[in-house]
Amino acid sequence: MGRTARARQRNKRMRVTQNAPEDSLNPLLYELSRLGWHNPSRLTARDFPLTGRGVCSKNQKFSTGDTLINLPLKCLVTISTLEEAAHFKSQFDVTKFHKDCKISFQSLLALNILHEKHLEEASHISAYINTIPKQFSAPYFCPIAELQRLPVEILEKTVEQHRLIRENYTNLKSVFHRNECSYCGQLYFDEIYTLDAFKWAYFAVNTRSVYVFSRQFKPDKCFFQPLLSDEPNMALAPFLDLFNHSAEVTTSADLLPSGPKKQLEYVLTLESNTSAISPRSQLFISYGALSNFKLFTEYGFFITQNRHDYFSFSLTDVEDFLKHDKTYSNLILHRNKFAFIRQHNLHDEMFVHLDDGASHNLCVVLHLLVHEQSIYPNVLNQVAFGAAERLANVENEVRSLVSYKINTYRTFLVDFEKLTILSESGKVAKSYMEECIRYLEEYLDSI
Ligand SMILES: [Zn+2]
Repeated sequence: MGRTARARQRNKRMRVTQNAPEDSLNPLLYELSRLGWHNPSRLTARDFPLTGRGVCSKNQKFSTGDTLINLPLKCLVTISTLEEAAHFKSQFDVTKFHKDCKISFQSLLALNILHEKHLEEASHISAYINTIPKQFSAPYFCPIAELQRLPVEILEKTVEQHRLIRENYTNLKSVFHRNECSYCGQLYFDEIYTLDAFKWAYFAVNTRSVYVFSRQFKPDKCFFQPLLSDEPNMALAPFLDLFNHSAEVTTSADLLPSGPKKQLEYVLTLESNTSAISPRSQLFISYGALSNFKLFTEYGFFITQNRHDYFSFSLTDVEDFLKHDKTYSNLILHRNKFAFIRQHNLHDEMFVHLDDGASHNLCVVLHLLVHEQSIYPNVLNQVAFGAAERLANVENEVRSLVSYKINTYRTFLVDFEKLTILSESGKVAKSYMEECIRYLEEYLDSI
């Protein structure tokens, strides 16, 4: 299939949408207008086929260069919002802040969501909290039976997410003042901020926050700074987070001063789009040039025919393939070569891309393991970092590796299909594996 045909088929999105109830939108729009958002292009949210809930304008047509939205910074939940939240702050014991138990700003935002959720209607952002989906479809939420039937790269990613979330949760617990809520008497980390609730809130931030450059607005004296392991360059973005991602558009985001008081506004601009977007058609933004692996593991969806997609291989993939393929049964996989590859990080960035072919590192690694006779580091060094033309003899290996990977994904898929009931994450995972197989088959057809 040529580029144009691919482009036509692109952008079919796979996401099992878990939307908040329809009636949650009006209170949010009301609250944002109270905070100073004028909404001149009458943006609203509605359900669209394929994507579920998304944003459109009731009356405006959009073309390249147009502003999609400008939302006052005070509509967002930023580090400044948390610094002003006296009740939330009062739960932390600053004397317990320690350099060995820092947390990410993402985790602090997640805890703030749980805090506001616990306040129910008394929360100043209850209208926003009610728009957050009850479930997310990242593979992290797959039950064990499904996880065991997923390719190792997905499993490893969820293990890493588990480690991060647990570590941050434990550290948060260690800096709290009291064990119980002074209003309702429930125990904070046992009953209110449970680990399960925290996992949900962590992914709410993961999937719904935007990047902001906090130096533009962060107060000089920052209560939470000693607790944070990173700069607080994230914000929860009510309404903005209803925009869906497309690989076909480019958008830019800036915090710009506006009006006589030079108040900061979060401005999203449509940089490029294939054609003008008519009223009531969905407005998409770009979350970045992201692969399907990233979209799926972090956000719980992916896009078929995603122009930014590529397929990565691990060193274990390459090793397994060479051990299983009879063509290479006489090959000696010397440990010196693996040591050299690891030492120079050549096993990073090993991938195939539909338009750009096999990545340089993938070619280097296959060449060293299959075609290079020497095992001496100085020779390996000359080969790996010498003329690229010498590496062109790995076409057969790339082809066989891709076929090998297609077969392993098919095996995973067959095993996965034996499960009679799939979770929402499981349904997306199944389609994701199908898309990987389709992508790799298209790659084989193209070379
Ligand atoms: Zn309470």
